[in-house]
Amino acid sequence: MKIYINGRFVDKEAAVVSVFDHGLLYGDGVFEGIRSYNSLVFRLKEHIDRLYKSADAIELKIPMTKLEMIETVVKTLKENRLKDAYVRLVITRGPGDLGLDPRKCPKPTIFIIADKIALYPEKFYGVGLAIVTAVTKRNLVQALDPRIKSLNYLNNILAKIDAIKSGTQEAIMLNHDDYVAECTSDNIFMVKDNELLTPPVDIGALEGITRDAVIQIAKRTDVPFCEKLLKMEDFYTADEVFLTGTAAEIIPVVKIDERVIGNGKPGKLTLKLLKEFRELTKTDGVKYVV
Ligand code: PMP
Repeated sequence: MKIYINGRFVDKEAAVVSVFDHGLLYGDGVFEGIRSYNSLVFRLKEHIDRLYKSADAIELKIPMTKLEMIETVVKTLKENRLKDAYVRLVITRGPGDLGLDPRKCPKPTIFIIADKIALYPEKFYGVGLAIVTAVTKRNLVQALDPRIKSLNYLNNILAKIDAIKSGTQEAIMLNHDDYVAECTSDNIFMVKDNELLTPPVDIGALEGITRDAVIQIAKRTDVPFCEKLLKMEDFYTADEVFLTGTAAEIIPVVKIDERVIGNGKPGKLTLKLLKEFRELTKTDGVKYVV
């Protein structure tokens, strides 16, 4: 495996960062999780746009143009001869001193890992997931906006621990007003009376690339869609629920807090959207040759 780090490709063992790196010391940095399907990087431009937006929000200047970044992601995939892959692209504030001051970090650290993708086991796409509501609330938008995909994922990890303790793999995170925001690493949708609903991102969720793709598919295929403030009661009484994310794609949810959703099986619209989404991954992205 070859890792891109600060302008070079090195072996995995040689891909190391300083213990003074503020990405490590403070979670000061941003990242992306990107996926390639059969030598096509799905919505790469959108991922890079989100990365630069996140960096901008934390006043981190990435010392590379967006185009150079796109080329470097593609080069990393080619270097590793991967047609189907998960790419982790990370920019940290870089090495500094032991204080917080980002001005003491003159050079951001950039690394890109391309690896095989770890997915939810296929059976969950057939039978659906059981998930829970996290005790941990989503970060306040006014404190650390969840739209920033920062290296500081402790909020999500605490909610993930809530999920694990309940014997499940995902947890729904509520915002401070008890509106459903998203899950620990996926966005969430529901279907009620044939209408597709999802929370707006400005209440405390990441603007998922998969979420956007699903909304576009819904609009293109005349599925009624609305962004709406939703509470747990709405999800408990939904006809269908599913999660979206780069790794998960579209995964059905059949139980929340031990309550059965709809008829307890993956919903019809969920499966239709999953089929459409998988079609989209065959055409929508940046092509490369390995
Ligand atoms: N929310 C959170 C908190 C995430 O980390 C992710 C990415 N795994 C998502 C939603 C889904 O975003 P995307 O579709 O861009 O992967």
